[in-house]
Amino acid sequence: MKPIRVGLLGLGIVGGGTYAVLERNREEISRRAGREIFVTMAAVRAVDLERAREKTAGRIALTTDPAQVVNAPDVDIVAELMGGIHPAKELVLQAIQQGKHVVTANKALLALHGNEIFQAAHERGVMVAFEAAVAGGIPIIKMLREGLTANRIEWIAGIINGTSNYILTSMRDRGVSFEAALKEAQALGYAEADPTFDIEGIDAAHKLTIMAAIAFGIPMQFDRAYTEGISRLTSKDIRYAEEFGYRIKLLGITRRTTRGIELRVHPTLIPQKRLIANVDGVMNAVLVKGDAVGATLYYGAGAGAEPTGSSVVADLVDITRMATADPGNRVPHLAFQPDQMHDDVVLPVADIETSYYLRMQAFDRPGVLADVTRILADLDISIEAMLQREPVAGEEHVDVIMLTHQTLERQIDRAIAAIEALDSISGQVTRIRLELLGSA
Ligand code: NAP
Repeated sequence: MKPIRVGLLGLGIVGGGTYAVLERNREEISRRAGREIFVTMAAVRAVDLERAREKTAGRIALTTDPAQVVNAPDVDIVAELMGGIHPAKELVLQAIQQGKHVVTANKALLALHGNEIFQAAHERGVMVAFEAAVAGGIPIIKMLREGLTANRIEWIAGIINGTSNYILTSMRDRGVSFEAALKEAQALGYAEADPTFDIEGIDAAHKLTIMAAIAFGIPMQFDRAYTEGISRLTSKDIRYAEEFGYRIKLLGITRRTTRGIELRVHPTLIPQKRLIANVDGVMNAVLVKGDAVGATLYYGAGAGAEPTGSSVVADLVDITRMATADPGNRVPHLAFQPDQMHDDVVLPVADIETSYYLRMQAFDRPGVLADVTRILADLDISIEAMLQREPVAGEEHVDVIMLTHQTLERQIDRAIAAIEALDSISGQVTRIRLELLGSA
């Protein structure tokens, strides 16, 4: 059979890893795919040309004009591994219009413009594959779309940003501040010079948006995702959480409820005994609860050249195998047939239901706790556990920490406002959401 020819847009971390994996495992990959797959050309920026030549040992054509790759007659699949929204979006749409299949690792592009891109691909009868866009080397898209296809998926909870997980692990293990842990992550190359997307939960929300679409058969709705990062977390809260038997992780959570879909990224207390609570450093893990299978956990490298390249190559093999199939018989891009997507409402954060960790600074005098517990009781919020620190000599405040049972976020908002208005409470109440992540 004729080989499949791939054009790379970008030969950076992921592009370079993809090229290296394809070269090294060429024989085994073609035995699996049934055809040889090789890269014919790549686009890089001018500054990258020399480095790109070294990476590919001069074996492929290089250009600084990405449109040349998209338009090349000897390119069957365009792999968009350059990142960013523009010109990546225009190039992907152009490739689709040319009747070429597309592989992309670009979660931001899909979360923001996926609906348009998949619609265009459907109309043109080509495939857009994106395993590398979520959790790097973990084949979570394949799992959600195919392995778990028998299930009604109930919820997904994932550690899907290695940078923030590395920072949280350093804060817990060594008691360092958020700022110190971030600096260290940047020095080690785990965090970008501008770390906003990683630490503020935006990158995780991009990935969560994609998983929710596949899990529930809904369009991508990144603009409705609730996003809260880790930059305001303190080592103190991490320590208190440990005292209660919990770890704090930045989780992406999406859940189907009778009222709509929850779609949220935020720091979350999870019981220490859960496997996912022990996923440390830059590693990723995704927990998926299906009604038939129960809870399943997928763990691995969420980034890096070859782990991410592994996912890109898996997509290239999938496309190679499916290229000759009638488009109507292929696995749908978002798991559900395009005319079977639902427009379930994504709930505003005030309507989510979860448990809470609340920390407040109270004046050390009688009756304070009674005031706080009365506010919670009046709002039907029940307390699961409570801790009051011993007063430190010379300080007039003590830390009071409460864990609540499940309640609506809007009830907690009311409770916090009332607690902060008490004379006996100083400053703001710290709120961190808590999930048990049990399999029931
Ligand atoms: P990267 O190392 O910065 O590589 C990007 C490549 O694209 C570079 O070769 C860059 O050239 C080239 N490029 C960018 N804009 C271009 C343009 N306008 N014309 C021609 N070439 C252009 O980025 P990366 O880390 O590989 O990430 C690529 C994509 O994969 C992103 O969407 C990212 O979110 C996603 N992803 C990355 C990882 C990871 O571990 N890094 C994991 C999962 C997904 P220059 O070097 O000259 O700028």
